[in-house]
Amino acid sequence: MNALSSVGSVARVGERVLVALGGNAMTGPDGSASPQAQLNAIEAAMRQVRALIDAGHQVVLTHGNGPQVGNLLLKNQLAAAVVPPVPLDWCGAQTQATIGTLILNALGRPAATVVTRTLVDAGDPAFADPVKPIGRYFTEAEARRFEKLGQSWRRFERGWRRVVASPEPLEILDAPAATALMAAGFTVVAAGGGGVPVVRQRDGSLTGVEAVVDKDLAAAVLARAVGARILVIATDVPQAVVGYGGRDPRPIGQISAGELRVLHAAGHFAGGSMGPKVEAVLRFVAAGGERAVITSLEHIADPGAGTRVER
Ligand code: ADP
Ligand code: MG
Repeated sequence: MNALSSVGSVARVGERVLVALGGNAMTGPDGSASPQAQLNAIEAAMRQVRALIDAGHQVVLTHGNGPQVGNLLLKNQLAAAVVPPVPLDWCGAQTQATIGTLILNALGRPAATVVTRTLVDAGDPAFADPVKPIGRYFTEAEARRFEKLGQSWRRFERGWRRVVASPEPLEILDAPAATALMAAGFTVVAAGGGGVPVVRQRDGSLTGVEAVVDKDLAAAVLARAVGARILVIATDVPQAVVGYGGRDPRPIGQISAGELRVLHAAGHFAGGSMGPKVEAVLRFVAAGGERAVITSLEHIADPGAGTRVER
């Protein structure tokens, strides 16, 4: 594998950088979400983030929450006869608080976590066709039981999983709070898990919905809203790759938005994993962002690392 490389730093001093942390920053290498595995992963991730902050960048962090929400859903189910189950959006809010707290402890720099809501459209077509799998695999009999309670379930290779809508993030409603905290010198953690999805009712009030917003797409919206010039998507692979998993994988280094869009349209980036990251960097740059990078967590402060797109 040979990647194109170029000189230059991930960001200039003082630039506002949004870093979206993937699952590998919050769970063990095998995806396990035991408290110790989460602590270890976050501590390792925060060493990288600290390097960016100490180099003089203003950092905004966001993060995924899949395994953590999966655990809460399972607890809901197992304890349903004793403790009333809580809605999915409540689970999302809980994970923002918990992961946010661990990040604050591990970062060791002035920081704040903002419980963040993401506005979605109640008429988003995703609600009519829920495809985002959440939680663990179950047997068909269990899936059918939950379907009777109004949930959507689908058969996958390894068994049945609940699926929910993954609507488009329209607006990060609490971005102004994040911006104010940044202006006051705090590193901010916001829109964890894509943000708690809410819809606006006719009377203007906001209510949570049973949905999951993609964390990379939400990161692109948050980045613009807080005025970040750079979007860094930190994951478990060093680059986006053409021919991923095939005989002739070609890692992508510096690339124009136009070229990346062509590769994306040709289906080189898997839906639900690399696809939304590529989509997020394209949207960010199209909306006026200066530079976007997809790379592994260890390389977020490295010059010339990763797949890099410039406006
Ligand atoms: P995260 O938790 O960081 O969001 P994901 O698992 O959602 O991570 O996405 C990263 C994964 O995307 C990689 O581990 C890799 O298996 C997968 N992937 C799919 N298509 C590609 C591709 N074209 N290039 C690189 N990685 C890809
Ligand atoms: Mg992902």
